[in-house]
Amino acid sequence: MLELSDIKFRYPKGKHFQFSYKFDLLTPVVIQGASGSGKSTLLNIIAGLISPSSGYLRFEDKNLLKISPSERPLSVLFQSGNLFDHISCLRNVEIGLNMRSRINSEEQFIIEEVFQNLGISDHKNVLPTEISGGQRKRIALARAIVRAKCLGKKLMLLDEPFNGLDFETKSECIDLLKDGCFKEGYKVIIVSHDNNDPKLLGANRVKLENILR
Ligand code: ADP
Ligand code: MG
Repeated sequence: MLELSDIKFRYPKGKHFQFSYKFDLLTPVVIQGASGSGKSTLLNIIAGLISPSSGYLRFEDKNLLKISPSERPLSVLFQSGNLFDHISCLRNVEIGLNMRSRINSEEQFIIEEVFQNLGISDHKNVLPTEISGGQRKRIALARAIVRAKCLGKKLMLLDEPFNGLDFETKSECIDLLKDGCFKEGYKVIIVSHDNNDPKLLGANRVKLENILR
């Protein structure tokens, strides 16, 4: 369970947000809401990129606000993808493992499998600037999945992971998430604009307006 209780945050001289909601996360969740309504802000607070001024954020038995972002039990795909353009796609995924230089054989196996399942094996040794937007999106998704699997990060936050993907590619990503993550017991929150996604993912739809106070 993920519980947000009166989480308050204000951008400097900007919008003010207050979030309260209890996610049981027994089923994956798709968060929907208008553009600019605060979906990414919410994910960034859970991830720890943004610190709220007050409130309580609990995942299972942990108070996340007391844990540094890298130590939180979660793996994030940010809306921007956050790929480093000067290193290979493979290295971009490896870097999700807390910058450790050594990748062990079990991790190598997981990385290989995720690249294959996402159809991006050919892009391992090229730069993110040398592939298409949809391919970059899958590299970013691969990083989030690899980080969750290799580091045992049980909560996955995916901010618009399918934007810019054609239907077939998106279906492949959804299949991988279902087989590789949902079935394995990872708790997943996905932000999406597509009204078909809750059904395609077998997920519960939660409107951001029900989280905002
Ligand atoms: P969504 O992901 O739902 O489209 P965001 O969480 O990105 O929305 O943004 C919510 C609101 O906060 C928007 O009005 C946006 O302009 C504002 N906002 C987002 N990031 C910043 C920032 N760094 N500084 C000031 N305002 C911001
Ligand atoms: Mg957003």
